[in-house]
Amino acid sequence: MKRILIGVAWPYANGPIHIGQVGGCYLPPDIFRRYHKMKGNEVLMVSGSDQHGTPVTVTAEKEGLTPKETAEKYHKINSQALKRLGVKFSLFTYTMNETHKRVARDIFKTLYEKNHISLDSMETFYCENCERSLPDRYVMGTCPECGQEDIKGDQCDECGTLLDPEALLDPKCMHCGETPNLKESEHFFLRLSHFQKPLEGYIEDKDYWKNHVLNFTKGWLKEGLEDRPISRDMEWGISVPIEGYEQKKIYVWFEAVIGYLSTSIKWSEESDGDWTKFWKNPDAEHYYFLGKDNIPFHTIIWPAMLMGYNEELNLPYDVPANQYMRIGGQQLSTSRGTIVSLPDILDDFNSDAVRYYITAVMPETKDTNFTWEEFEDKVNSELVGNLGNFIHRVLSFTYSNFGEVPPAGEIDERDKEVIEKIERKTKEIGKSIENRKFKEGLKKVMELSREGNRYFNDKAPWEKLPEEDKMAGTTLNISLRIVKALCISAAPYLPHSMDSLWNYLHQEGSVHDQNWNGALKPLEVGTQLDEPEPLYEPIDLENMEKGAELIDSLKRLDLRIGKITKVKEHPNADKLYVTRVDLGQEKRTLVAGLKPYYDKSEMEGKKIVVVSNLESAKLRGIESEGMMLAAQEGDTVSLLEPKGEVGENIIGTVSGADKISFEYFQEYEFRTVVWENEKISSGEKLEPIKSDGFEGMSVALIEDGKALLLRDRKSPIKLDKKISPGSKIM
Ligand SMILES: [Zn+2]
Ligand SMILES: [Zn+2]
Repeated sequence: MKRILIGVAWPYANGPIHIGQVGGCYLPPDIFRRYHKMKGNEVLMVSGSDQHGTPVTVTAEKEGLTPKETAEKYHKINSQALKRLGVKFSLFTYTMNETHKRVARDIFKTLYEKNHISLDSMETFYCENCERSLPDRYVMGTCPECGQEDIKGDQCDECGTLLDPEALLDPKCMHCGETPNLKESEHFFLRLSHFQKPLEGYIEDKDYWKNHVLNFTKGWLKEGLEDRPISRDMEWGISVPIEGYEQKKIYVWFEAVIGYLSTSIKWSEESDGDWTKFWKNPDAEHYYFLGKDNIPFHTIIWPAMLMGYNEELNLPYDVPANQYMRIGGQQLSTSRGTIVSLPDILDDFNSDAVRYYITAVMPETKDTNFTWEEFEDKVNSELVGNLGNFIHRVLSFTYSNFGEVPPAGEIDERDKEVIEKIERKTKEIGKSIENRKFKEGLKKVMELSREGNRYFNDKAPWEKLPEEDKMAGTTLNISLRIVKALCISAAPYLPHSMDSLWNYLHQEGSVHDQNWNGALKPLEVGTQLDEPEPLYEPIDLENMEKGAELIDSLKRLDLRIGKITKVKEHPNADKLYVTRVDLGQEKRTLVAGLKPYYDKSEMEGKKIVVVSNLESAKLRGIESEGMMLAAQEGDTVSLLEPKGEVGENIIGTVSGADKISFEYFQEYEFRTVVWENEKISSGEKLEPIKSDGFEGMSVALIEDGKALLLRDRKSPIKLDKKISPGSKIM
């Protein structure tokens, strides 16, 4: 058994994690962790939100929140999103926690006492106009290395160079755009120069590192390490623990890398684990997953800090940093737009489909592109068309002809060949993951599945039934072996669907608790099978875009829940009622042609749906300030009956939307629909924009055969009388 520590780069708590970061450093460690756990190794995986520094304060100022509020907000968003993606940590914490502060201060103090941190004066930027110091991201300017304009003062996103803002060309105050002045100030410096020799020794045997990581690190060492300022003049952050300097804050990067150690200690405090088994045991291996912009912090600065602080502590064994995954050729960066956030993509797509494609384009050795077209194509042709299809074919065919796992009879050469392939591929998949070659491992999963499809076709068990059902049984028994091997060896990549498959196969516990070598053990003969459901659904981007258009069109409406408080007959019209309706914040008069269909007493006290941004209109001399919605079918008229609170908006519609004319409203096609067995119909079959789970009659906005269900916060909108699906709402 091995002990493995996995450190995962700390996301800044200044925005949701984007999918470029997922491919860069969040998905790889999770695949690695799941695999090692299945190999029976003990894994400690730690990370958390980086809540200090100017990335957080700049965002807080923009959002009108305090730094603490911003830090807490994005910590919550990001921890939930990672959980939904299936990325599991031993502990995912945040840098505001007390253990972290304590450990960070202790390391700072110890390094200071050992003379690895010195105090010196330096010139830093100060804006006379704003009357404030301008650390890091408060200065924008041109990169002195690559010439990229408008970069932030701490690092160039374009070329990855780490900067002090004072090095920027044409510096500007981020707030007012004025050129800041340099001002003398005292700061603490990490004396990296002390570690030149020890670090050279440290990387000597690191020839197994990725080329770009090793070259980058060697490049820094070759240039000669310079001492770096590690304190800042700002209010937000961890105070420097040196008497007289407490108003200064520890530089966020110096402090954040300490999180790997402090979180391991916190994990010990909170569980019965022992962090020293991972940190002070020389056999434990430490892996750090991050994007290429963070390489120097993990191959130079963090090892130097560890060496200086306590020689007993383990140094990184490998830093398999990834390059950038860009979208449409543009780098994904939270601060630059053209981003796809993790929470957003998970709202729209199956998490395993997202994991599949991001792994397939993981930037392991060079920059890659995420494109939506390729996402759709790869998920449909590979995940659905190859893996999903193979598993589903085997399960459906076995289920309908045998109902259980059939025994294998005599096996021929082709059978033998495929059994050997299962063994070989499973081993290879494991090796690839172990070597941090996650794309290669996933390719092999797909090769095994392709082999399964080929074998199934070659054997054509359907041609043998019913006469030779023993022979068909053998084919299915062996095909099910492939299914089982896929279930286990794809589990690190596709944790949710493979766990469902595991349950479907009536196996005990979770697939993630199984031993990797169990992949080769055939399923027990006689294991009952249920009717299978496809593991994955194809992606239809065009359809989704239509859905987005429909959702968009709802935004021009202000549909609100009202309550009828009073009903009177219209003095000048036979069919009209004049009603008073409570809309929560306000009361309105609505004239409605409901007299032939409802008694006054039936209507009073009733909750209804009101189009409240309709231009007022005089109906036989009385002004109606909006319209209540009802469905009509011949002589039956039924009011829409919401369950939500009075004053609440129908989901997707916008309170205070611009006024619209009656003609404009009539262009919307609202109809009654019925939901049954996840299918929606208005008499004609419709395509739901969101699958819903709800059963029964409701109301939908319809366009081009697509239906968007109207709902309030409690439930879909119902009707108060029986009426056929497809009836028009007006
Ligand atoms: Zn300024
Ligand atoms: Zn640059």
